[in-house]
Amino acid sequence: MTVYAHPADTITNCGGTLARHADAGDEIVALILTHGGRIHANRYAEEWRKDNPDEAIAAAGLDDIVEFKKAELRRAADIVGISRVVTLDHDDSSAALQDSLVDEVAAQIAAERPDVIICDYPQNPVVAGNTHTVATTTALAALGRAGTYLRNLDGQSEYHVKQVFLTSLPVYPVDGLSLFGVRNDVFVDITPVVGRKIAAMDCFDSQGYSGLFARKLIESANGEAGRAAGVNFAEGYYRLYNETHGTLPVTPAAMEVDPLTRHVSYSRIDLRREYPV
Ligand SMILES: [Zn+2]
Repeated sequence: MTVYAHPADTITNCGGTLARHADAGDEIVALILTHGGRIHANRYAEEWRKDNPDEAIAAAGLDDIVEFKKAELRRAADIVGISRVVTLDHDDSSAALQDSLVDEVAAQIAAERPDVIICDYPQNPVVAGNTHTVATTTALAALGRAGTYLRNLDGQSEYHVKQVFLTSLPVYPVDGLSLFGVRNDVFVDITPVVGRKIAAMDCFDSQGYSGLFARKLIESANGEAGRAAGVNFAEGYYRLYNETHGTLPVTPAAMEVDPLTRHVSYSRIDLRREYPV
């Protein structure tokens, strides 16, 4: 289950990872807290700038904008392989934790019983809107609430998620000491599905995420994560909970990697040639 503030956040932050999970047969629920109708209004702003704007676009109301964005989200979700999209449609100007929303999200978590939750790192660098921070504090509070359900009081038993993966840390140091340990500690190689992430981002045309922007974002953000991970393109995560292993874990990817030469293998894809606009 993903828990994000806005419709496109799920795709930009973890769309590649979700595509790989979908290919592995996993069920994916995308929970989106706000309708996102007030942000990234590129489609409408472009029209307002014209001398003779198309009034059907220029005069769109909030309901029109939200419905248009939902249609884009549905297409993107299909491309990625998201099983179910749940939109709670709160206003995206929300700037504080609300108990009622925590209850709503807790109810979704208890109903879906996800093994894993993905949401933003709470200090998301997208400072233009701290709705991302609110979304994650809501998700974490909801996890706490679902974890304290009592069957005799709440009609359902407690539920604990096994792991939470936090996205969108701004930097990708490759060691655990730099930046006082604030770092991604898991990378998912999205190179095999990078074309689907591009195609899903191309769906969000109304907010200017399609075309060149999709390719630039993936080249830069996922390319930089890929550099840290030793692959072409990766999505980075910070685990909320410690994990316990029988012995010290070293992944197959870590066993294979040759730090001196891996830059050769992670520089081979030209996104603009492979996935033309
Ligand atoms: Zn967002």
